[in-house]
Amino acid sequence: MKTFYEIPNLGFVKYIGHMGTDETFIEAARMSTGKGFYGWYWDEDTYNDCLCRDCGTQHIRSTLPTTPADGLFEGTDDHLCTNCWGTNVKNLKDGDVPKLAGKKGSPRDFSLLTTLYANKHQTPFEMGELAVEVEAPLFVFREWHRHRTQSYNERSARYSQMPNKHYVPDVGRIQRQSKTNKQGSEGSFDPEYAALVVNLLKEEQELVYRNYDKMVRDGVAKEIARINTPVSRMSNMRAKTDVRNWLGFLLLRMEMGAQWEIRQYANAMASIIKDLYPKTFELFLEYDLLGVRYSNTEQKFIAKFLSYLLTSATFEEKGFAMKVARNMAESVGLSEKKFEALVNKLQTNREDVFKDVLKNL
Ligand SMILES: Cc1cc2nc3c(=O)[nH]c(=O)nc-3n(C[C@H](O)[C@H](O)[C@H](O)COP(=O)(O)OP(=O)(O)OC[C@H]3O[C@@H](n4cnc5c(N)ncnc54)[C@H](O)[C@@H]3O)c2cc1C
Repeated sequence: MKTFYEIPNLGFVKYIGHMGTDETFIEAARMSTGKGFYGWYWDEDTYNDCLCRDCGTQHIRSTLPTTPADGLFEGTDDHLCTNCWGTNVKNLKDGDVPKLAGKKGSPRDFSLLTTLYANKHQTPFEMGELAVEVEAPLFVFREWHRHRTQSYNERSARYSQMPNKHYVPDVGRIQRQSKTNKQGSEGSFDPEYAALVVNLLKEEQELVYRNYDKMVRDGVAKEIARINTPVSRMSNMRAKTDVRNWLGFLLLRMEMGAQWEIRQYANAMASIIKDLYPKTFELFLEYDLLGVRYSNTEQKFIAKFLSYLLTSATFEEKGFAMKVARNMAESVGLSEKKFEALVNKLQTNREDVFKDVLKNL
């Protein structure tokens, strides 16, 4: 595992230590029923039962038919229940064999991890922790320290002299005030002007440090000498929290709306978390970073639009559209079951679900 991430032109993130793995979260969730970790996928040597790869029902391995296409899943851990086996054998076409044979075993505890993550049963994810050391400019620390669930320990500028180390942005980072995001930057300046800005920043940093250094050498208390310190000055800290809260940090700080500099650190943290907790990180991508959240109004629009498409189509068109949609769903990895669930979800009006509650509010 890579333990040191240099953030070019800025500082670094260094792995210090961690507790737990993806399995820890499963064990924590299962202890409520007196059970533990079974395995990520069903394994016939260890367990005499398995999940059907196609419909997901549990069955005893010995009830599987062994003919007529015994070699179909050779070299894989795939299992089908009697029903799905029959359907597949009946509908087999030439190209189906490698497609079926190439699939992985049915998810077992990965399903549980997904359920926990997708339904926001988040406390099991607090059973893993990670500590890092960070070198960054003070303005990045000011943003980072807003994450109150982390524990911090930072270099003391009252105790020891701060080094003459500052963040000087690259010429390309000297951008204009964004017109759309009042907190953001966009576009660029011509390189000559950008270089001038870089020099201005450098000159100010040098002036402040020169005076600071003189005051310290003259015996002025460091806690006084430092009071003009620019937020570009580099500092070091350790930060530690649990996986649930690291993912919360990533979600806010990897987002494009976060300042570019802290994003570089968040991206390094993402690499460390991905290495240590790969399955949880996969779910973070699926449900949080790369997922999309809708408001009630947006959801109402989607439901209305979908219903318009389905009701305005002829019976044949509707059948064709659903077939296309099913194929598309399969091509992005949505199972038949998940596709049906998505269609239901898109058509759900949450105001109906809560109508009894809402009418009393
Ligand atoms: C793009 C961006 C712009 C920002 N701009 C500004 C700004 O202009 N000004 C500004 O002041 N801040 C700003 N922030 C900081 C922001 O408001 C949050 O303070 C910061 O992102 C930390 O988020 P958090 O509270 O969810 O995280 P954490 O403090 O890590 O908390 C994690 C979660 O724990 C719970 N929690 C923690 N503490 C409490 C508590 N005391 N009470 C209740 N629940 C708690 C909450 O559920 C919270 O979401 C900005 C952040 C971002 C990402």
